[in-house]
Amino acid sequence: MALIVQKYGGTSVGTTDRIKNVARRVAKWKAQGHDVVVVVSAMSGETNRLIGLAKDIQDYPDPRELDVIISTGEQVTIGLLAMALKNIGVDAKSYCGWQVKVTTDDAHTKARIQSIDEDAMRADLTAGRVVIVAGFQGVDENGNITTLGRGGSDTSAVALAAALKADECQIYTDVDGVYTTDPRVVPEARRLKTITFEEMLEMASLGSKVLQIRSVEFAGKYKVRLRVLSSFRGGG
Ligand code: ADP
Ligand code: ASP
Ligand code: MG
Repeated sequence: MALIVQKYGGTSVGTTDRIKNVARRVAKWKAQGHDVVVVVSAMSGETNRLIGLAKDIQDYPDPRELDVIISTGEQVTIGLLAMALKNIGVDAKSYCGWQVKVTTDDAHTKARIQSIDEDAMRADLTAGRVVIVAGFQGVDENGNITTLGRGGSDTSAVALAAALKADECQIYTDVDGVYTTDPRVVPEARRLKTITFEEMLEMASLGSKVLQIRSVEFAGKYKVRLRVLSSFRGGG
């Protein structure tokens, strides 16, 4: 039995049918006897839509209020996934960042995680529940909601895996692994079996968005075993 942190990105939770698929995949890992903590992004397009609303009101949105707005996408998907799991007989509980709690600095829209309280999650895992955490968000020491920068759910997942000393952090997305270069742009790109943290860091710094750069830094620092997998294929 292992403790696994799984992260599902925007396209993987882009429709309610896809969320039901995610629930089935999570249920499979749980049925194999593993403890599972799931981190989800907002439905694809939602964070952009929310930023658009804010910019309709203010050309340069107030950073604190922008975080209040753009953190809501993930609040929707954690609730939907918890319901989808309960529907198929798996006990689950959703957490916003502030409920966990994931404490960050106060740099709105690009906050850094400082600490994670694991007590509530541990209690749920011990009680046999799947824990579902909203990616991309945290709370500063004054109780303000913060977000971690675009693509920040990757960093939420790796940070949770480090805090919980998870056996593995699985990043489920719309490609089936890390390639030599973006496979959507270069069809000849080759899938890499393994990649060092340093190589991955270089790739992320060159603009590859398959993993947010901070998540790679975190994984290297805390030696988190990280795998990129497709949420649209069988297996995994
Ligand atoms: P998610 O919403 O799941 O976080 P992203 O869109 O942020 O997904 O990241 C996945 C995308 O990253 C892929 O669709 C792919 O186009 C792109 N990508 C860029 N560079 C690479 C690479 N080297 N290997 C795999 N995917 C890459
Ligand atoms: N929803 C956020 C974004 O679109 C975070 C993420 O998807 O990782 O950037
Ligand atoms: Mg991403």
